[in-house]
Amino acid sequence: MKLHEYQSKAIFSQNNIPIPKGRVAVTAQEAKYIAEELGGKVVVKAQVLTGGRGKAGGIRLAKTSQEAEELATQVMGMEIKGFPVRRLLIDEAVSIAQEIYLAFTIDRSLRKPVLITSGLGGINVEEAARIHPEEVHTLVIDPLSGLHVYQAHDAAIFLDLPHSHWKAFVEICMGLWKAFLTTDSTLAEINPWVITDDKRLLALDGKLVIDDNALYRHPDLMDLWDIDAENPAEIEARKYGLSYIPLKGSIGCIVNGAGLAMATMDLLTFFGGRPANFLDIGGGASAEKSAAALRLVLGDARVRCVLINIYGGVTRCDEAARGILVALAGLDKNIPIVARFAGTNAREGNYLLSRAHIPTASTLVEAVQQAIAMVEGAEGEHPHQ
Ligand code: GDP
Ligand code: MN
Repeated sequence: MKLHEYQSKAIFSQNNIPIPKGRVAVTAQEAKYIAEELGGKVVVKAQVLTGGRGKAGGIRLAKTSQEAEELATQVMGMEIKGFPVRRLLIDEAVSIAQEIYLAFTIDRSLRKPVLITSGLGGINVEEAARIHPEEVHTLVIDPLSGLHVYQAHDAAIFLDLPHSHWKAFVEICMGLWKAFLTTDSTLAEINPWVITDDKRLLALDGKLVIDDNALYRHPDLMDLWDIDAENPAEIEARKYGLSYIPLKGSIGCIVNGAGLAMATMDLLTFFGGRPANFLDIGGGASAEKSAAALRLVLGDARVRCVLINIYGGVTRCDEAARGILVALAGLDKNIPIVARFAGTNAREGNYLLSRAHIPTASTLVEAVQQAIAMVEGAEGEHPHQ
């Protein structure tokens, strides 16, 4: 679960991390009042659950409360990467002397939390870090003993922070570590954390991503969940109890069972294909659930073909096939599909699909190879896409 900037910064503030003064507005008029309270010079910030708002024009500097109202009107009507702006954070504007990146996250291969710092903070941090990896410092943290002061000092040395800022920097690192730990986050990020011209240290932007599996022990955080602001595909998946994770490839995958889904993706990759998603429709999936799965996958514009792999046990292949046909009837998209059914009612499933001219494969290898050939065929037809 991603928290909005204003929610993340509120939690940072509770952990003694200084943040700019500011409040949330839902109308342009409210933005104007807040700007007046803050002395006129403010930043108008779109609150959407996606990155790169600055580059998209969702972060605007206003010199007067009048201008804040105008900018708020503009930003409020925007859609950033498909996310409509419904709320604005109006923060006091500051003059920035230096932008720094600071984050705690989990390094899966090390199985440990890490503190990542860089002097290249700001809106181009990803690009900058790719070109200058030596400018990014990673400190591994022992999960049992936690963050030590000497580690924060180590980061301060790397960042070349003037000694006068060290005490405050240690407090911010400790505060961010505490926020990361106590909220069971997978990411606690400040970008940028800034030193202002008047030598103040402030977290200008904040992002917390809470581990969904730990949400049960944070009822207070659950209340922060802004379901309307989430990716519509994720909401849809949650509604039908589907585990759906979009990836970057072009072959949509619909599979029952997480292990089988992994194996399907592995086999696709092995033969040179690229999965567009991980999708587990679960055991005993109804036609309705299969239909929802297909709609989700076909809703992804990158998908060039769909591979359906059902191992029938409790799940009946004919039910899955019915769901596929129902979903296809309601969509006007011409994306090739190949299915491989095995187990309970596989023959009936195959019959239903072949009657609708949807190819079926008798083995998974065959299905994977067909899916890859279909993508290549689709790309051959549209060489400019
Ligand atoms: P993001 O693009 O979604 O990461 O949004 P940020 O909140 O990080 O803002 C993007 C950029 O806007 C920051 O890196 C700053 O350079 C700039 N910015 C944000 N707040 C202020 C401010 O108060 N004053 C000034 N001068 N720039 C700001
Ligand atoms: Mn940022």
